[in-house]
Amino acid sequence: MQMKLLDGKKCAEHLVADISLKVAGYVASGLRKPHMTIILVGKHAPSESYVKSKIVSCEKAGFEGNLIRLPEEINEAELLERIHGINNDQTTDGLIVQLPVPKHIDQQNIINAIAPEKDIDGFHPTNFGRMTLGQKAFRPATAYGICKLLQFYEIPIKGKHCVVIGRSNIVGKPISIMLSNDFDIGNATVTLTHIETPRELLLDETRRADIVIVAVGIPGFVTEDMVKPGVVLIDVGINRLENGKLVGDVDFENVAPKCSWITPVPGGVGRMTVAALMINTLMAYQNNFNLA
Ligand code: NAP
Repeated sequence: MQMKLLDGKKCAEHLVADISLKVAGYVASGLRKPHMTIILVGKHAPSESYVKSKIVSCEKAGFEGNLIRLPEEINEAELLERIHGINNDQTTDGLIVQLPVPKHIDQQNIINAIAPEKDIDGFHPTNFGRMTLGQKAFRPATAYGICKLLQFYEIPIKGKHCVVIGRSNIVGKPISIMLSNDFDIGNATVTLTHIETPRELLLDETRRADIVIVAVGIPGFVTEDMVKPGVVLIDVGINRLENGKLVGDVDFENVAPKCSWITPVPGGVGRMTVAALMINTLMAYQNNFNLA
């Protein structure tokens, strides 16, 4: 069997080019550009690189991308005040507070403070709840990016057996809900596994899965003996090894030959997360201007 790469870079470039055409049309008609604001608190090397790629993507999509840097020592009340200010700013369509925030700040309070109509990460309980109920919402960006990647490569999902490893609120939980919902990209039968899933049960599930999505943050977690031939493997993990190399959660070298499709790391899901943020920002903008 010939393994093929699910190329997140190629798919993201395609989606962003499509968005930039729409934006050029809106701007030509006299509207302002879509506007994304990112708040970055303190210094965190991975966050610096994620924020940079979001700003670069904004430029490519024809958006205004605005980065607000705040000091590590900022307290929660001050940060909430900044968020409220942006919530009330009519020129910002989408707001991201780059996670993680420093430990002295309650992350959930920050997520809850972002106006749902600007919550392009899709983490606010209103958007998460609406998404879960199958209603129109900003879908959590990484999970939405995975869906768009599967769609781009015309991977069949309806009726397939999908196993998700990891139940975080930002990846595992939303992707399991989205793929099992009656969405345009969905209608799979999904098993969500986590740290309390007995090893034998995990293996039973992954070995008969058509699609495996792993988001645990452990290099080499998915090994060749865990999957069946022809599996579609989505590796969400981003792990920096001591030698500086960036790897996912899959033992890529040994697992890839067994797959029909697999995402590389880097160049897979990470790129799609940013593309999904662009889609969500465009949606926020279209909502603001009552555009179709
Ligand atoms: P997280 O919040 O740390 O969650 C990890 C999940 O994995 C938890 O639900 C945990 O279970 C589960 N887990 C840990 N060990 C396990 C085991 N032995 N068996 C089964 N499940 C296990 O991580 P996250 O935020 O979802 O991120 C996961 C990885 O994806 C990280 O490498 C992160 O950097 C990466 N990531 C990438 C992107 C992207 O755009 N590509 C976006 C977000 C995250 P419990 O809940 O029981 O603890």
